[in-house]
Amino acid sequence: MKAELLVEGATILTMDGQWRAFDPGWLAVKDGAIAGLGPMPAPGGLEAGEVVDGRGMLCLPGFVNTHTHVAMAAFRGAGEDRADRLVRFLFPMEKALVTRDLVREASRFCLAEMARSGTTTFADMYYFEDEVARAADEAGMRAVLGETIVDFPSPDAPEAHGGLAYAEGFIAQWQGHERITPCFAPHATYTVDPDVLVAIHGRAEALGLPVLIHLAETEKEAARFKVSHGSAVRYLDSLGLLDPRLVAAHVVYVDAEDIALLARRGVAVAHCPASNAKSGRPIAPAYRMREAGIRLGLATDGPVSGNGMDMEGILGLYPKLQKVLEGRREVLSSREALRAATLGGAEALGLAEKTGSLEPGKRADFLLADATDFNMQPVYDWYATAVYAMRPHNVRQVYVDGRAIVRDGRMTTIDEAQALAGMAGIADRCRDQIARLMREIQ
Ligand SMILES: [Zn+2]
Repeated sequence: MKAELLVEGATILTMDGQWRAFDPGWLAVKDGAIAGLGPMPAPGGLEAGEVVDGRGMLCLPGFVNTHTHVAMAAFRGAGEDRADRLVRFLFPMEKALVTRDLVREASRFCLAEMARSGTTTFADMYYFEDEVARAADEAGMRAVLGETIVDFPSPDAPEAHGGLAYAEGFIAQWQGHERITPCFAPHATYTVDPDVLVAIHGRAEALGLPVLIHLAETEKEAARFKVSHGSAVRYLDSLGLLDPRLVAAHVVYVDAEDIALLARRGVAVAHCPASNAKSGRPIAPAYRMREAGIRLGLATDGPVSGNGMDMEGILGLYPKLQKVLEGRREVLSSREALRAATLGGAEALGLAEKTGSLEPGKRADFLLADATDFNMQPVYDWYATAVYAMRPHNVRQVYVDGRAIVRDGRMTTIDEAQALAGMAGIADRCRDQIARLMREIQ
């Protein structure tokens, strides 16, 4: 066989159903897919256009970040530590500052940060989502992108729920792209009218697309739907929205009945441990959701909510917080945590046929991390090292469809200096307005 790319000598954690690992192993790429992999040595007769020396490297499936708002990188660090920040600060700030130009520049910037830390697939919901799609396409990443729909005028749609029409146009433009899945993103249970939620569900079903939403995220939302329907989850169920195409982010305020209902309906969950913690919210019962059989992926949330966009920043936090919640050290193994950041995320986004684990036939989405660095040595358990010790700077190469989008720690697809300069320009334009809004909510 003649492969395009052959990685030799790396420690490979496949994250497949049998937890296969090769230490050391080889992995071959042909036509952008994984053509074969196994323990060293690579089979004789296997030729490759490029051979990568993987000795000292850890090879993992690329990370899948199941909930982001990448363009909000423009506002990272603004208005921290204020009560009710979403309504008092973020919504007015977005109204004042979000433009097509900002979304374009901030997305390119944020995708560089994500790709360099090993993320190959992400889900995003925002405004001007077609600009996010263009940036993801340019970066060479895989993405599920939802145009946000809200019941008030938004930066890209002046009328209430105008995001729905915008989403239709965006989807028509991008559906069928091999790496980009365009879709609908109704913002939340409390920012979209019930009849519009039902209409979105119908359209998504007709087009065979996912629906991204924030669910059971805030205390106010929980209190409101507790009175009317028992819970926010049961409210969505009463509208018929709970089904396998729904990817629900946060899912903090849920009880045992909600968890059983989400599992029964096949809803996927994007678990955001860092952003929930920063908001002072309860720890979402992610371990129990997994035990109930819910498809669960990890997510950084947007750069304003979670700040760091690298998956390493939440990979260790996820099991740590679940151990706190359950009061037991043995809860949630490193292996299970790593699964949530890779195959679990791919399952949540409906992309497990294509990505999330290293198996023949899947697309060649993977990372190589330098495991010889101080913070990763010594190694006794590769899963524990990956989850608790690996940091973004360890990631050296990142491949999507077998194409190196990061080489020697640098983006190959996006001009990094340009992305940094673009963000500096955006921040300069935002600075006065942000300072004013921050004073107003002291
Ligand atoms: Zn969010």
